[in-house]
Amino acid sequence: MILELAVGDAYGAGLEYVNKVLVNKLNNLQSYHQHPNHPIGGGKYTDDTQMSLAIAELLVEGTEWTPLNLANKFVEVFKRDPRPGYAGGFYKFLQEVETGEEFLQKIRPESDKSGAAMRAGPLGFLPNIKKVIKYSTIQARITHDTPLGINAAVASALMPYYFINNLGTKENLGKFIENHVEGNWNMPWTGEVGEKGYMSVRAAITAIAEEDSLSKILKRSVDFGGDIDTVATIAMAAAACSSEIKQDLPKELIENLENGTYGRDYLIDLDNKLKRKFRKNE
Ligand SMILES: [Mg+2]
Repeated sequence: MILELAVGDAYGAGLEYVNKVLVNKLNNLQSYHQHPNHPIGGGKYTDDTQMSLAIAELLVEGTEWTPLNLANKFVEVFKRDPRPGYAGGFYKFLQEVETGEEFLQKIRPESDKSGAAMRAGPLGFLPNIKKVIKYSTIQARITHDTPLGINAAVASALMPYYFINNLGTKENLGKFIENHVEGNWNMPWTGEVGEKGYMSVRAAITAIAEEDSLSKILKRSVDFGGDIDTVATIAMAAAACSSEIKQDLPKELIENLENGTYGRDYLIDLDNKLKRKFRKNE
């Protein structure tokens, strides 16, 4: 899951909010793209993956699920490996705060954007729905303490949960989410994806329902245009856990994903640790 979501994020990052004509021309999955206007893309992942690492590492470490432990981890993963791709204000905030305690004191958690949903995928490994909802709500409230922000995060975490636990076909994913979270999760998304969390989640659900392989889902996620690194991250995190979906991400994208200290090998290792901890029968 972690490797795939990072590939989606890194691939989408080069094309996020790029004009439609250019997206149509470049979205062929043959290579990563450097973003035309920002220092992102080119095989480097962004905030979506880095914050998902924070969640995944806490799960693997078995750390108590408290706002302080989460905030400490968000600060830690940023400080150890700062990178562009965060929203400008939040990037500056993370540069300024030194500890989780300071993070919690100074944050204004009023956002209803996609930040809490983009990092929620690893929570799908938790053993039951109650826990998925509880953990994703707690982590969302730290930065996105709004109904829209929280619901999008819970929906995003339930997507991989649905596939990991073989709860149904990919076409029924949206209906399943609607049974547990308020929102029109089963309504297909069309058009460009804006910055609200539900938009990315609905676009990801649509791509999964309508395409049958990881590469087609990635292409479809990016074809929407707009905030598509987040769509691709959420879609890949879930689709990577489905036995119904062909696992066929292009070799070029896997091989050319960044592989520094927290790059590809680190992500694969973290994936294995998550699976060992939560999928005991495999
Ligand atoms: Mg991003």
